[in-house]
Amino acid sequence: MSDFSPLHDLILLPAAGLLWVLPIFVGVSNFRAKGYSPYWMWFAIVPLFGWIAMIVSLSLPARRRCDACGTEVPPGLKRCQKCGRDEMSLLSAGIRAS
Ligand SMILES: [Zn+2]
Repeated sequence: MSDFSPLHDLILLPAAGLLWVLPIFVGVSNFRAKGYSPYWMWFAIVPLFGWIAMIVSLSLPARRRCDACGTEVPPGLKRCQKCGRDEMSLLSAGIRAS
């Protein structure tokens, strides 16, 4: 009845492990680069959710912060809502510097 070779398991298990771990690495680096907490990838504790979280991390706009007053500027806006300046930097850059 069972004609699965042990070799089959040896290939399948690392492949399944890679499919689980891969979106976690991609997601964490995406969340970090865009100024979000990489802890969102805890969703990946459930295998399929890792892929969902990775897709979310890819589609999120990068968070930006006003250079003058430090207020977070919503995506799509060209000027700070608080002080009206148009100079802003990525939030992730500020996290890395401090
Ligand atoms: Zn501002």
